[in-house]
Amino acid sequence: MTLDSKIPDGPIEKKWFEHKFHMKLVNPANRRKYKIIVVGTGLAGSSVAASLGELGYNVLAFSYHESPRRAHSIAAQGGINAPKNYSNDGDSVYRLFYDTLKGGDYRAREANVYRLAEVSGSIIDQCVAQGVPFARDYAGYLDNRSFGGAQVARTFYARGQTGQQLLLGAYSALIRQMDAGSVKFYERREMLDLVVVDGKARGIVARNLLNGKLESYSADAVILATGGYGNVFYLSTNAKASNATALRQSVLYADPSDMHSCHR
Ligand SMILES: Cc1cc2nc3c(=O)[nH]c(=O)nc-3n(C[C@H](O)[C@H](O)[C@H](O)COP(=O)(O)OP(=O)(O)OC[C@H]3O[C@@H](n4cnc5c(N)ncnc54)[C@H](O)[C@@H]3O)c2cc1C
Repeated sequence: MTLDSKIPDGPIEKKWFEHKFHMKLVNPANRRKYKIIVVGTGLAGSSVAASLGELGYNVLAFSYHESPRRAHSIAAQGGINAPKNYSNDGDSVYRLFYDTLKGGDYRAREANVYRLAEVSGSIIDQCVAQGVPFARDYAGYLDNRSFGGAQVARTFYARGQTGQQLLLGAYSALIRQMDAGSVKFYERREMLDLVVVDGKARGIVARNLLNGKLESYSADAVILATGGYGNVFYLSTNAKASNATALRQSVLYADPSDMHSCHR
């Protein structure tokens, strides 16, 4: 088996833009025809499920917890980085990209880290729109602090409970789509296997943790947002439930130490 992360070609500053530009768009009127499974409803899963629901897709969201609010994202404290350069201390997308790679001992995948740095500003905007009460200065503008040894102040934070506030924001957006009928939430389901048809992920097999029965669900696409594999480490601040059962038989997995640098 070869490990192919399918990173688009081209110079790093252009590869994601070019890739997105050449993708086929789906007409808003046709989005209802597509079903998308999202496994995991932490910060990643809740946000993507809510956003896809708002765009008009039919979303099935799964979690082995009874509520999206139980995801491990709730534990994050320090803050979330974006190079908006509000402090005017010379920050840029490239500098965030560079610092993140360096912080991860140069083991993270460069293209993915670049994409993260590129979209991080919009992620802050999305969080604010979802009602996240980020710290503000006396003039009312969003405050930034220097965090994790960075030479610039680029961390958006909500006291020592940023993850909690971010997850409550994402959860609110998700609940809104659940009420609107575009997202259906399946609680207490543990994904055990991925259904692959002609090389494409088309469904999942999950255990209903309330009655022990196996259930299968089909879709046009599957998004795995099941969090980090904390249990792989002898010591970890992740919950013991962060056990990557969803990944065991489904995907190739490389260098778990990337986990921390990738989300920065
Ligand atoms: C103590 C602590 C402090 C942190 N501080 C920061 C910080 O300051 N800044 C920062 O950027 N990051 C921080 N992080 C890291 C950051 O919080 C995480 O990387 C991020 O929240 C992960 O989000 P996620 O949505 O990918 O995963 P999670 O929040 O772990 O969500 C995973 C979801 O998948 C579900 N799931 C898992 N397996 C299955 C399965 N088999 N079937 C069905 N559902 C499944 C779970 O129920 C859950 O809903 C911190 C982490 C910790 C632990």
